[in-house]
Amino acid sequence: MSTSKFIIGCIKSFVDNYIWYVQYENQIILIDPGQSVNVINYITKNNLNLVAILLTHDHNDHVGGVDDILNLFPAPVYGNCAKSTIMVNNNQKLKLFKQVDTTVLYIPGHTNNSICFLLNINQQYHLFSGDTLFAMGCGRVFTNDYMAMFNSLNLIMNLPATTIIYPAHEYTMANIEFAKYIEPNNNLIYEREVHEQNKLKLQQITLPIILQEEVKTNQFLRFNDAELAKALSNKLNKNVEKGFDCFYNLRQLKDNY
Ligand SMILES: [Zn+2]
Repeated sequence: MSTSKFIIGCIKSFVDNYIWYVQYENQIILIDPGQSVNVINYITKNNLNLVAILLTHDHNDHVGGVDDILNLFPAPVYGNCAKSTIMVNNNQKLKLFKQVDTTVLYIPGHTNNSICFLLNINQQYHLFSGDTLFAMGCGRVFTNDYMAMFNSLNLIMNLPATTIIYPAHEYTMANIEFAKYIEPNNNLIYEREVHEQNKLKLQQITLPIILQEEVKTNQFLRFNDAELAKALSNKLNKNVEKGFDCFYNLRQLKDNY
């Protein structure tokens, strides 16, 4: 998308990864470059200056391209993992471009040191959420700290409703399949499925997402919804409460789906 002179776009990598970038005139910031070749081609072809790399967490499909990119285009790497050259703190403000305020937010759960970057571009918030929130889903809880993941999703949910969110994977349709399995009678999910299918038919991607739309159908943000708790209670033959209990049981079901 384009916001005045800013362009936010993505470079596809692996099978279903998106390497997001923010471009301002001839300057570019990369988020989670898991591979280098397509990124290097893009920077070279467009004659861009790499201003910074932002890393949300240290999984190889998010950091694997960093070394090769830095060899050609030296730049600071902001993050909280081994590849970072500048370690960042929770709530730290970064000045990457002139008019862009960037805030680092800790969101542990997927990994212990997962973070996200909230950019304020002309009063519009953009969140690069790594593998914590996906369209219609959330990341796996590799830490086994489900409460941390729950708190991280709560943090994202409480950002401004118009925040545009850029997850790092195209998992939307698979996530919708699971959502239908959990709530076979939820019409909003079927409507969302058609909406996303139409985008894919037009060769568009299903991302980014807007928070205020996402909370309507993403079950991993609907843990306070009594209908979802009821659907889970029926599925599991036990009483599932709204809130953390709902999130925990949902994520466990997804882990074994
Ligand atoms: Zn990951």
